[in-house]
Amino acid sequence: MDLVWLQVERWKRVDWLLHGFLGRRGGKGTGVYASLNLSFRVGDDPQVVKDNLCDMKKAVGVHDLRIVTMRQMHGDQILEVKDKHLKEAGAADGMVTEERGLFLGVLTADCVPILFSISGRKLVAVVHAGWRGTLAGITTKMMNYLRDRYDVEPTSVEVALGPAIGSCCYEIGADVAVPLVQKWGSLAERCLQARDRKRFLDLRDLNSLLLERAGVPPGQIFKIGPCTSCATEDFFSYRCERGETGRQMSFIGWL
Ligand SMILES: [Zn+2]
Repeated sequence: MDLVWLQVERWKRVDWLLHGFLGRRGGKGTGVYASLNLSFRVGDDPQVVKDNLCDMKKAVGVHDLRIVTMRQMHGDQILEVKDKHLKEAGAADGMVTEERGLFLGVLTADCVPILFSISGRKLVAVVHAGWRGTLAGITTKMMNYLRDRYDVEPTSVEVALGPAIGSCCYEIGADVAVPLVQKWGSLAERCLQARDRKRFLDLRDLNSLLLERAGVPPGQIFKIGPCTSCATEDFFSYRCERGETGRQMSFIGWL
């Protein structure tokens, strides 16, 4: 299987941790879903998506294990996942698990897939952050959730932000820029760029700054992979493909 599978170098060395940011290559989907679409919610043939899931799980080595996804809402709900037999955890944009052999998956095509690993703990989390989730403060909320429920210090958190649309391509209007600046002030301003009388946003940078503000050391925040809209050979991009496209999966869990 010709898979695009990006990883954090130092997480690869933790032998019980398995994670990845997958791209669109190596699946059976055709047309706008070519080829490794892993979402049942975007109009692709469900049998093809099923086959893709099965083939992908074999390729990454979790064939007999579950990758739980969520019904992503562009909000700030976080769910704790304990049931290994679930396929979908419910309506949320963040999940946490301590269960061995239960992998958490995020589906994206431009939004930021974010994976959390807690050093020395068998505890993992994921977040889906588009502009609405970023405005709602989903990453900050995840940090609070980890502290309140699991007694996690921000200095023990390592975070990887995967392939997402960059400020090279993500043109936004005042409807997005104004509320983000109102909510996050100078942090949001640092992630906005003006070119040719247009405004562009770097969502990955903004979430990374929010994580730093929540206390995660900058050396423990990793940005992995290119801009999805610049790299449509390897990644689905909602913007670049005008809304009709598949979703790639990012996942994390422990064996
Ligand atoms: Zn780009």
